[in-house]
Amino acid sequence: MHTMPPSHPFDDDKLKEECGVFGAIGVTDAASFIALGLHALQHRGQEAGGIVTYDPEAGFHSARRFGYVRDNFTSQKVMETLPGSIGIGHVRYSTAGSKGTTAIRDVQPFFGEFAMGGAAIAHNGNITNADALRRELIERGSIFQSSSDSECIIHLMARSLQRNIPERMKDALRRVEGAFSVVAMTRTKLIGVRDPRGVRPLVLGKVGDKGYVLSSETCALDIIGAEFVREIEPGEMVVISDQGKLTSSKPFEQQASRFCIFEHVYFSRPDSILEGRSVYETRHQIGVELAKESPVDADLVCPVPDSGTPAAIGYAHQSGIPYGMGIIRNQYMGRTFIEPSEQIRNMGVRLKLNVNRALIRDKRIILVDDSVVRGTTSRKIKDMLLDAGAAEVHFRIASPPTMWPCFYGVDTPDRDKLLAAQMSVEEMRQHLGVDSLEFISLDGLYRAAGVAEGRDPKAPRYCDACFSGEYPVVPSDMIAKGFEMKTAAE
Ligand code: SF4
Repeated sequence: MHTMPPSHPFDDDKLKEECGVFGAIGVTDAASFIALGLHALQHRGQEAGGIVTYDPEAGFHSARRFGYVRDNFTSQKVMETLPGSIGIGHVRYSTAGSKGTTAIRDVQPFFGEFAMGGAAIAHNGNITNADALRRELIERGSIFQSSSDSECIIHLMARSLQRNIPERMKDALRRVEGAFSVVAMTRTKLIGVRDPRGVRPLVLGKVGDKGYVLSSETCALDIIGAEFVREIEPGEMVVISDQGKLTSSKPFEQQASRFCIFEHVYFSRPDSILEGRSVYETRHQIGVELAKESPVDADLVCPVPDSGTPAAIGYAHQSGIPYGMGIIRNQYMGRTFIEPSEQIRNMGVRLKLNVNRALIRDKRIILVDDSVVRGTTSRKIKDMLLDAGAAEVHFRIASPPTMWPCFYGVDTPDRDKLLAAQMSVEEMRQHLGVDSLEFISLDGLYRAAGVAEGRDPKAPRYCDACFSGEYPVVPSDMIAKGFEMKTAAE
């Protein structure tokens, strides 16, 4: 029986990364490499995963499943169906078009058969003009198999008149707006592309003499012992042949890079390297900046585990206030309560997090978390701390107030569900019932990410739209649906 991973009823107060991608070429048994890579990228999407491989004798093969990689792509029965030395894979959280109603046909990679042979693609990001493209393609006769935006790329490739697949892919991606890191494959080539602004990550690694891998994050290179070569640059396409020859091109009009700053704050794994910087180190530095910006007299700095941990360590280091594990996370809660009964659901966050009573009793606690989205979990954690005898609770948040939805591949609630879009910081403090509440400033976040001078308002180095409301790519589909961009007065 397949079991869906939990919808994380107690994690629904976090933004969700929507995908991770991985590809391999020139290795014996590519599917095993891909399965391990996807396992390391599981934090980017837990709903479903898929692998496509190609073998000259057996042709293209694909397996797409709901659930965790470890439950689907470790069985010999499944892995035997994926022969070959080239392949790509994908893990997903549901995309914008299909929240809650994902069908297996929406699970990537997608496959297309063209006159010059088959190709498969896997996409991390979100196409902001997908509705318009889909309408146009359907009017011209395309028949869509899924509700996923990413399928547009295959149909656009089918309409291209170019004579080989990489060129068709360039044609297709030039029509696409938004954020994309794509891995794709033909019978003999592995292809990696990043959108011109490089919003989502994609890195290149090497295995042995002729083998290459492409991955959303470097943590997936480590798990297979691949050597990190470099990041795929914003707007770059690399094509790697089965003989180990790599060619690079820049098929798009050049634009200023706007990497997602939330990858540094929360999405990426702390053991990954982004833009040459350790994610852990950046998060630690966020804590240092937070302590400089928002000091408070207290007895103990505690993280909300696990994502608040590096920033809490940084805060404690900078402030000189002792660090302690005031909240303990139950690592094994995942699959036990897949569909919690109402009674268990009411126990809420306690199933996953518990207070270390002996440590926090009578203490003034600084609680460090990565973000506040709806605020529901923050309130529960504060209640737990006070019930267990904490004298004061001071929240310090390792990101600025999340006030705007993301349209570039991260599942965000609408503005009316984002606490910071509805309330001032003081109103939020009262709503959460804490003694103080402070968020890191955008400048402080930029400094922590290595931009010493802070955020340049005329040319921000990162995408920070969910904090600033300044979208580097106009979300045209959403505007057509009534979304209102920030006005000059806001
Ligand atoms: S809107 Fe926020 S989460 Fe989305 S890409 Fe930009 S910084 Fe990242």
